[in-house]
Amino acid sequence: MNEKRVTYSVIVPMYNEEEVIEHTYGRLKAVMDTADKPYELIFVNDGSKDRTVPIMKAIGEADANVRMIDFSRNFGHQIAISAGMDYARGDAIVVIDADLQDPPEVILEMIEKWKEGYEVVYGRRLKRKGETLFKKLTALAFYRLLKSMTSVDIPLDTGDFRLIDRKVCDVLRGLKEKNRFVRGLISWIGFRQTSVEYVREERFAGETKYPLKKMVSFALDGITSFSYKPLKIASYLGFALSVGGFAYLLIVISQRLFTDTTVEGWTTIVALNLLFNGIILILLGVIGEYIGRIYDESKNRPLYIVREVTGHGGDEDAHNEGGERPKHAEREKQMV
Ligand code: UDP
Ligand code: MG
Repeated sequence: MNEKRVTYSVIVPMYNEEEVIEHTYGRLKAVMDTADKPYELIFVNDGSKDRTVPIMKAIGEADANVRMIDFSRNFGHQIAISAGMDYARGDAIVVIDADLQDPPEVILEMIEKWKEGYEVVYGRRLKRKGETLFKKLTALAFYRLLKSMTSVDIPLDTGDFRLIDRKVCDVLRGLKEKNRFVRGLISWIGFRQTSVEYVREERFAGETKYPLKKMVSFALDGITSFSYKPLKIASYLGFALSVGGFAYLLIVISQRLFTDTTVEGWTTIVALNLLFNGIILILLGVIGEYIGRIYDESKNRPLYIVREVTGHGGDEDAHNEGGERPKHAEREKQMV
């Protein structure tokens, strides 16, 4: 196997990014060329339906530092990042969005911190430019809610833009959970972590690839992966309602015994019925979110499926354990 030694791997997940990808490649190359060590740029195509793939292939043919992992369909941002880590060969691995919201120049600062001995350097967003008020508010609320729910110290206002050491990458690759919340997993792993601050820019071109539906499922993955608190809500609420209900019963009975008032009630009963049935259904839904994720784990399907790996090295030297294509040695092991 002809493993080329590289010091830095930069992973770029792409979903319909035809408008930005050439520019992103240019900026990344310019930055990484100044890092003075061999590097690779790993572009993961997450089932784009536009011209992302042909554009990337042309770039890969002209630049030996570029590889592209082409998924068979859209598997999602977090899975695309995880696949990039399976293929990365560097001593330090950087994850960056394709839309240039995270300035590539910040990678150099991250590398400096890594050289000082930090094993995780995450980017902390001081400001988010050009994003809707709705996105900013929901993000603000989500990170704080998550923090209040879990004992894992997930830093506020950080995305997946970060550098991790080879050691951290290897541990992360061993965590096989299907509904992945990568930034939380990295916090959970530990090691020496620090941050660099940056201003999140506007998207260079195109639209966000995170519509509300994906944002909600991403948030649910984050919460269910790192907290049982939503499950406990049922017990707390049940307890509070029983106490309240019992107290009210005492009041009604004493009114009946000691006064002339009897509580009338069709409307009250229907309203209370709807309210409590609603609460019960919501709580069943919460339990469902957890059970669905347990079901995903038990099916044991691969995390992603790769159509092809192009660019330097092809897929000869991929050490992809998450995907469908094990190395020869692993294949032999499975056959024994
Ligand atoms: N992305 C992806 N798969 C998806 C959705 C997004 O690989 O299903 C990529 C996208 O191409 C980009 C990154 O994930 O590189 C972040 O997406 P985006 O910039 O649209 O999210 P936002 O910054 O609006 O939260
Ligand atoms: Mg973006």
